[in-house]
Amino acid sequence: MIDELIIYKNMALVNENYLKLGGRYLFSEIAGKVNAFKVSHPEAKMISMGIGDVTKPLVGAVVDAMHQAVNEMASANTFRGYGPEQGYRFLVEKIIKFDFESRGIHLDPDEVFVSDGCKSDMGNIGGILAKDNIIAVTDPVYPVYVDTNVMDGRSGTLNENGNWSNIVYLPCTAENKFIPSLPSKPVDIIYLCFPNNPTGTTLTKSELKVWVDYALTTGALILFDAAYEAFITEESVPHSIYEIDGAKKCAIEFRSFSKTAGFTGLRCGYTVVPKELITSASTGEKVALNALWNRRQTTKFNGVSYVTQKAAEAVYSQEGRAQCLENIAYYLKNASLVRESLLDMGLEVFGGVNAPYIWFKTPQGIDSWSFFDRMLNELHVIGTPGVGFGPSGEGYVRLTAFGSRENTIEAMSRFQNWIL
Ligand code: PLP
Repeated sequence: MIDELIIYKNMALVNENYLKLGGRYLFSEIAGKVNAFKVSHPEAKMISMGIGDVTKPLVGAVVDAMHQAVNEMASANTFRGYGPEQGYRFLVEKIIKFDFESRGIHLDPDEVFVSDGCKSDMGNIGGILAKDNIIAVTDPVYPVYVDTNVMDGRSGTLNENGNWSNIVYLPCTAENKFIPSLPSKPVDIIYLCFPNNPTGTTLTKSELKVWVDYALTTGALILFDAAYEAFITEESVPHSIYEIDGAKKCAIEFRSFSKTAGFTGLRCGYTVVPKELITSASTGEKVALNALWNRRQTTKFNGVSYVTQKAAEAVYSQEGRAQCLENIAYYLKNASLVRESLLDMGLEVFGGVNAPYIWFKTPQGIDSWSFFDRMLNELHVIGTPGVGFGPSGEGYVRLTAFGSRENTIEAMSRFQNWIL
């Protein structure tokens, strides 16, 4: 009896917020279905247009820079150990020059934090923000924003319609042209992702200004995910939220080399936390989020490898930029092929112009998972059910343009010959 008590008293308790999450992340659930199908249909030639991962290898300029960096690491004279947690200056300067100054945005080097990717930063940012903040997300949404807030204890409870009680959802559907309306009740933190995953849609400068003005008026913080910035083709679409006046006072921007330069497996991104961005402690004390994020990163993060940062620097060389743009043009051509094929079939199609994602309405009101299953079973094409991104995604499916041209064309020909 005493032993049992001792064991109980010493037992570590889990963060119970994790228990609120469904056991499986959307893409694991899809992988489970696909694997089961492959086992029962080993002969099927599957085409994946599901997960948003690149397929083209790293470009030559990046590979050369990595080889050179590996050689440096192999010699006692040029070897490097721990680097600055915030990123090497050589990379930060290139980021500022090419991603921001070219658009008239001035940033100081200590406003840019290089990281191992945008997903971890978007997940970790909650650690410097109070638990009782009310968050708003567009719906459908990249699941990481919601799940990480559940983990942090900000979500409340899950309703039967798939919504969390403390999260404010901003529906984005064909009816509002995927432009979220301002929240009807007060919120403290707003997640925006444009070009959007999953819908592939964008906001113009004037549409984004509405959000910046709202945040400036109410004191809300915008977390702006610009992971797909490199796919923007239209002049009216802002590449950075800081193109909007006043955004440095209310927004953090997250960027990634994953889709820009094929770094999904290499891992590098960065986060901009402007020094002008001041929030409050519950006492009313003013706090600069830049200083807080710096404190967090220097304590919990030990920087990105030198080799990876050299690779990222090469993305900004003349050759590197041309080579990455060529890959992006390739994916965008796939996107336009998908878009045109689905439109030809009479489907309602969105995205695919400034983004590698095509979002379409299922015909005859079929629900997302049923349509996913039919695509899998009848076409052997893997998509992503829209409802997996949130309740407003019900009745939609997402396809990605990251496959090879050959597979994209083959998948579209299967669609066009399909009796729906
Ligand atoms: N943000 C969005 C909207 C994404 O779709 C993804 C990846 O699919 C990420 C962030 C992840 O970026 P990273 O690979 O830099 O972690």
